[in-house]
Amino acid sequence: MYEWVIIGGGIHGCTVANFLVKSGKTVIDDIRLIDPHAEPMARWKRNTNRIGMEYLRSPVVHHIDIHPFSLQKYSTSGDSRDFYGYYKRPKLDLFNEHSDSVLRDFDIKKAWHQRIIKNGVKSSKTPAIKARLRKSCFIS
Ligand SMILES: Cc1cc2nc3c(=O)[nH]c(=O)nc-3n(C[C@H](O)[C@H](O)[C@H](O)COP(=O)(O)OP(=O)(O)OC[C@H]3O[C@@H](n4cnc5c(N)ncnc54)[C@H](O)[C@@H]3O)c2cc1C
Repeated sequence: MYEWVIIGGGIHGCTVANFLVKSGKTVIDDIRLIDPHAEPMARWKRNTNRIGMEYLRSPVVHHIDIHPFSLQKYSTSGDSRDFYGYYKRPKLDLFNEHSDSVLRDFDIKKAWHQRIIKNGVKSSKTPAIKARLRKSCFIS
């Protein structure tokens, strides 16, 4: 039984999971994060790599952690090329490293369940995702 079932381990699903744990609303053992990929944020990484994007299009305060300046603080190299322009758009590599670090910190692997949901959660016969669906969200 899980208190929270999050479907989709992309940027949004990972942000929600991180928020729930770090804000003390639940613990990682009470979250099930369901996604067909082996790793979190796989689709994001694949798509952005495909087009050779060097910098994000969004500013430095847009990332998966709670504190707005978490990504800026994470960049300890002092390399001015880590961020670009007025909005300090972060380098893609830096953004991904920061995301991986945030996800490692709250042990997302414990919640990760590799599969795809078809026809909605409630129709599933799989015990692993028969959760008390008091709280759930669909991220896609
Ligand atoms: C080239 C490119 C550049 C971008 N640059 C930026 C940027 O600089 N800044 C920015 O803010 N945004 C950017 N975006 C947009 C950003 O990628 C999306 O807003 C973000 O990825 C959405 O996150 P998400 O978690 O909702 O979806 P996704 O990242 O698509 O993740 C959804 C996950 O849910 C899984 N899923 C879907 N259906 C099911 C199911 N039935 N069962 C189980 N799992 C399921 C998918 O497999 C996937 O892993 C960019 C997008 C692209 C394509």
